[in-house]
Amino acid sequence: MIEALGVPHTEVELVLVNGESVGFERALDDGDRVAVYPKCELLDVTSLLRVRDRALRETRFVADAHLGGLAHLLRMTGFDTLYDNHFGDDEIECLAASQRRIVLTRDRDLLKRSAITHGCYVRALRSELQLREVFDRLDLARSAQPFTRCLSCNTPLRAIDKAQIAARLPPGVRQRYERFAVCDGCAREFWEGTHWQRMRRLVDFAGGGRTLRALVGRSGKRRCRTLMVQRLRSRTKST
Ligand SMILES: [Zn+2]
Repeated sequence: MIEALGVPHTEVELVLVNGESVGFERALDDGDRVAVYPKCELLDVTSLLRVRDRALRETRFVADAHLGGLAHLLRMTGFDTLYDNHFGDDEIECLAASQRRIVLTRDRDLLKRSAITHGCYVRALRSELQLREVFDRLDLARSAQPFTRCLSCNTPLRAIDKAQIAARLPPGVRQRYERFAVCDGCAREFWEGTHWQRMRRLVDFAGGGRTLRALVGRSGKRRCRTLMVQRLRSRTKST
């Protein structure tokens, strides 16, 4: 019925019949009230989805030169985030348009550029509060996949058997840890050390932004940055 009216099903994210989310197979009766919604960029509607398992939106970012800390935190939570402190405004605009990335910036004028269709002016100054702000505004908590992306180069991490890299690991690491991942972009190796555990508490997004808020929002004294410097380590660094 929806496609008969000219809307491809690939463009439909949510169908409500009489206020209830339904799948495409739902038959209609006389008098039913139908509302059809496209991809939702601002809200995570995963819990409402009936037409497919995953939301259509693929949240990706490009951060301006002032937001390096936020870019790292977003990568830590699994979001594809481009950042280079040499990015110029033209380059950011181009990346946003060509790769459909949301621009994160503290420069309102940048968001006035015509090719930028999705942007977020970040008000907070501290990176951990910026993360909270972006999570709240774009409803990101449910989409977070902590520790799946390289903090340094943004490449998705790949799990690897310990045996495959054992020879390259420091002896203490080889003894203590069992789970490892590698970055194919910059060849770093990561393992679940004590610092990883501390970060996991920080980004325990099973509880959504509430967990993050509990850690950074109450007094403002708890600094995620302190945890970040103890981040996933490359084998070139000591543990
Ligand atoms: Zn990397």
